[in-house]
Parts: sequence; C-alpha cells; structure tokens
Amino acid sequence: MPLNGNPLGTLRILLVEDSPEDAELLSDQILEAGLAASFERVDQGAAMRAALARGAPDIVLSDLSMPGFSGYEALRILRELHPRVPFIFVSGTIGEENAVQALHEGANDYIIKHSPARLPSAVARAVREARSAIERMRVDEELMRAQRLESLALLAAGLSHDLRNILQPLLIVPDLMRGRSADPQLGRLADVVAECGRRGHEMVDSMLSFVRGSRQPSERIVVQRLFQGVGMLLKSSMPAHVELFIDVTDERLAVEANYTELQQVLLNLSLNALQAMPQGGRLSLIAECVQGVDGTDLLRIRVQDQGVGMDEQTQARLFSPFFTTKANGTGLGLVSCKRIIESSHGSIHVHSEPGVGTCFDLLLPLQLQTEGRESVDAPLVPAGRGQRVLVVDGEATRLSLLGNALSSQGYQLRLAADGAAAMRHIQDAGLPEVVLVDSGIQLLSAGQLLHEMRELGYCGPAIVLEEAGAPTFAAGYSPAGIDVHVLPKPLEMQRVFHAVADALQ
Ligand code: ADP
Ligand code: MG
Repeated sequence: MPLNGNPLGTLRILLVEDSPEDAELLSDQILEAGLAASFERVDQGAAMRAALARGAPDIVLSDLSMPGFSGYEALRILRELHPRVPFIFVSGTIGEENAVQALHEGANDYIIKHSPARLPSAVARAVREARSAIERMRVDEELMRAQRLESLALLAAGLSHDLRNILQPLLIVPDLMRGRSADPQLGRLADVVAECGRRGHEMVDSMLSFVRGSRQPSERIVVQRLFQGVGMLLKSSMPAHVELFIDVTDERLAVEANYTELQQVLLNLSLNALQAMPQGGRLSLIAECVQGVDGTDLLRIRVQDQGVGMDEQTQARLFSPFFTTKANGTGLGLVSCKRIIESSHGSIHVHSEPGVGTCFDLLLPLQLQTEGRESVDAPLVPAGRGQRVLVVDGEATRLSLLGNALSSQGYQLRLAADGAAAMRHIQDAGLPEVVLVDSGIQLLSAGQLLHEMRELGYCGPAIVLEEAGAPTFAAGYSPAGIDVHVLPKPLEMQRVFHAVADALQ
C-alpha cells in the first residue's frame, strides 16, 4: 500500500543484517510501500563503521543478534558517529524485555520480522521526526545567535556612553601637555595618547554602528593618507620581529568610504596577520589599481602575512559571527570587515595556505584624487585675548578639561554643570562673549538656555556639543539672533579651539 505524506526523497538505508534473504525481504517491503530507497547491507562492526564514514544514512535498520556482532553494538556505533540518525530494531525474536532495553538504549522503534506490515510507515515516521528535529535545532541555533547579537547590541549601547566619557580625557589631556611643555619627546608621547583616544572613540562608534547596522557617511579617502594613519597606529603595537611593508603604487589612489570604518578594516586584518605570525615575518599593506572582470578599474588593497595560514575548513567559516580559533578571540573582526567593505560596494577575498601565509584582498570602486592634496598638518589656531567663554556641560571631567584647555589658550572661563548653574553665572557675572553648551545638559535644555540668554540680550555665537551619531539638539529650535555652530563629540581640543576662534570672528 503506498504511503501518504510528504515525499521523503530517495532514502539511504543501512541494513545491519547477516542474512541476505532477510535483507532482501525488508527492502522489498519498503519499496513496495512506495518509498524510494537505496540499500547497503553490513553485518560486522568494522564494515558498519566504514559505511558510516562514507556519510550518514537516513536510517539504520538492524537485526538484534548476528554471529560476532549484535544490534546493540550497532546502535552504539551509530550513536557515536551519527547521533541523530534514527535506528530501528527489526528482529525475529524480539521479546518484550528486549524491546524495552532497545528503546532504553536509544533505538527509535522495534519491529517483529514476521509481522512487518508496520515497517514502511515506521521508517517514514522515524525519518520525518529526525529531519524535523534537525530543523528545530537549526532554528533554535539561529534564534540563539540572534539573541546573542541582540544582547550584544544592548550591551554595546550601554557601554558606549560610559566608554566615551572614560576616553574623553585621552583626547584633551595631550593638548594640555603640549601646551605646558616644549619637550619634543613629551609631544610625541602626547601624540600617541591622543591617537589612542581617537581610536578608542572610533572603535566605540563603529561597534555601535555595527550592532545598529547603520551606515556611516562616506567621504573621499586618499589611500596614501589612510595607510599613513594605519602605519602610525600599527607601529606602536608592532612586535620587534615583524617587518611592516607599506606600498601605495599611485599617490592619487582614492576611494569613497567612511574613513574610520575603512581604517578599522585595515587594523582588524593587520591585527589578525600579526597574531598569525608569532614567529615573526613580514606584514604587507599594498594598494594598487587592478582591472575588474568587466574591465573597470578597481582599487585593490592587499593585506598579506607570512603566518600560519588557514586550512579549507577555517576558510569556509571565516566570516561567520563568533567564529574564532583564538582562546580570547571574539570572532567578530572579519564579520565587521565584510559588512563595511560590502556597504562601500566592495568585496573581500582570501587566499591562504597553511604554513605559508594569508592574503586578504579588498576590491573597491576606484576614485582618483586629482585636485591639490589636502595638507595633513592642521593650520595654526589663533589664541584667545581674554574673551569670556561660558562652558555648560554635565560631564564633570570634560567640563574641567575644556575649562583648562580654553584658559590655557588665552580665554576667560566660566564653568557650569547644568542650565540652572549657567543662568546663575550669567546673573552674577553678566553675559559671556561665546557659550559652549553640551546638548545633553540638565535643568534647562541647551535650547531653553539659549532662549533665556537671548531674552537677557545675548547675541553672541553658541557652540553646541552633539553626540555624532545621535543629534538631540534641533537646529531649528535655536533662537533668532544667536548663531549656532554644532560640534560633534568626541571632542578634540584642536577642533574646539578652531570652533571658538571661528565663532568669535
Ligand atoms: P578573531 O580574531 O577574534 O578570532 P576574526 O573574525 O578576526 O576573529 O578572525 C576569525 C578567525 O579567522 C581567526 O580566529 C583565525 O582562525 C582566522 N584568521 C583570520 N585572519 C587570519 C590570518 N591572517 N591568518 C590565519 N588565520 C586567520
Ligand atoms: Mg581578529
């Protein structure tokens, strides 16, 4: 009688049976019931292992006792090699006791040989149940992965605020150090600290944008400059026995992307390369123009190491979230590289050979920078001449650092931790010539504070400090007569100095 239900495809059935005639009988019953199946018969442990090593069957049907082998041994071998493949005992002698033991040991069903009418439907049901169990597991895993990503997102969002505040001094203190000492050595150390601070902020931002899945604004990036920046960051963490080779074949090579994100990609790849070369070697960063398959010019950025390399299995899983072979790895580095490169309309390719090394190629749409190259050195900032600056910021560290930095630049400072304190200062000491206000202040919002000041006759400029990715100060809300400049956080002192000087002009 044909079986109803979903077609199961051609089943691969492994028969553990010493009698060829019995095996034939079983196969006939299954085929006659309308199931499509191919059969293989074994009656020894070694032969069974060999058959299972060639691939998992859909189901195993096994006799209970055979000369030199038993159904229970067959069951144990199957559970060891393929724990999820269903197993049915088919025996002439199965008694109630044996049946109970069979199920206890993990068999899915048992059937009496002499009344085999039930066999085909039992086979179909066991296969169907096993397949849906695997599907459920896959769905559960997918769900768990999604939940992990979601909790990661929450964690990242929570941490990023605190991290930014903790990192803020790294951006401001170096400028103060340079201002207080002409020692060039100290200046260089200050540069390193400032660069780390900047990098820390950028990492927090890109972590956030990764979990939010948002896209950062793109800009035209001159590869030469990008490589200079990355080289400077790498040099401070380069092991002594690793040689860094950087080559940009054409200084006009440029690409449209987000600078911070692209830098992050190169740092991730370089860090992986360094970690793959514990014995040392050469890390190369090479940018050149290559031809794409359709003949268009592409920018190829190659990050190459002479490290341990990867086998095929590792290469196949490289871009799955949380895949790592390192004890303290996150398995997120390459995932975010791929996301960033693809969001810039590029692609990422890997060639690797165990024991020889690894090469990651980034292919991106090519731009050529033809106009004058921008200068890397910031222009000189005009110093203050005692102008009165009011700074309103609820974050205590940033407030005092801003105060220090601006007064060392020649301004007269008033500091307030919230909107109400700012109004008290103004009532006591009069209006400032410029106000710097954080968009997140308490007791009065930044907009309300500016309105109150306007009421008192203030018509100077205002600099509003804003969270880069999440602006809260509505520009339209600023009162008429006050010129508002928005300054994105994290703050770098040079930008603050410029903003204040420009606002006062
Ligand atoms: P993590 O570095 O935290 O492990 P990644 O996503 O950056 O996460 O990398 C995933 C895995 O890919 C690494 O654990 C490593 O096994 C492999 N891998 C990445 N880059 C290299 C490389 N340059 N050489 C050898 N293996 C690499
Ligand atoms: Mg990594």
